[in-house]
Amino acid sequence: VNVKAEEKTYTIGTDLTFAPFEYQNSSGTYIGIDVDLINAIAKDQGFKVDLKPLGFDSAVQAVQSNQVDGMVAGMSITDERKKSFDFSDPYFDSGISMAVKKGNTSIKSYDDLKGKTVAAKVGTESAAFLEKNQKKYGYTIKNFDDATGLYKSLENGETVAIFDDYPVLGYAITNGQALELVGEKETGSAYGFAVKKGQNQELLEKFNAGLKNLKASGEYDKIIDKYISSGQ
Ligand code: GLN
Repeated sequence: VNVKAEEKTYTIGTDLTFAPFEYQNSSGTYIGIDVDLINAIAKDQGFKVDLKPLGFDSAVQAVQSNQVDGMVAGMSITDERKKSFDFSDPYFDSGISMAVKKGNTSIKSYDDLKGKTVAAKVGTESAAFLEKNQKKYGYTIKNFDDATGLYKSLENGETVAIFDDYPVLGYAITNGQALELVGEKETGSAYGFAVKKGQNQELLEKFNAGLKNLKASGEYDKIIDKYISSGQ
């Protein structure tokens, strides 16, 4: 009798709400590009995934404290993060953008943010961007733990502008959220799957091997097309 070796299960941290990369459908199941990608890679490479939607910054902490084996959360591959994480090959190009409440014509550029409150999600590239440019533009920063609070802050007037990854803002607008993008998008880093530096290297290798196979088979494109209709 040929008994298949039991497949290893890896716990993978992810964000709470970061559509179209990870979010819950109407029945509460997590779906999205990251979710489909990690599941397809797991299938291709013969491992199991225990997905933990912790929130972005909490997932970062969970990887660093060895509570999870890795994370897939639309996480930008940055030099700063490379000090504490090892990243897979990039799997999606991204960057950040500013958005205001639809119909708000008073914010046309960063210069209009003086004395105003702007926001991003804790621990993200957007939050780092806001901190870096605070002196220059003279705004107040509010950081939110998750997207729900962040996006609501525009609606209830707590903030005048929010910063987030442009594929995520674009998806929100396409899906009817009352937002509009202002100004040029900032070039940012591509997304990568991450493990703690020096650890879980076999998982990183499996991710890269699986990603390569999914790209070759056309499955990668199918996943992207399922969530993003025309281009990026
Ligand atoms: N790409 C951004 C970053 O890595 C945001 C990720 C997220 O909010 N899930 O900082």
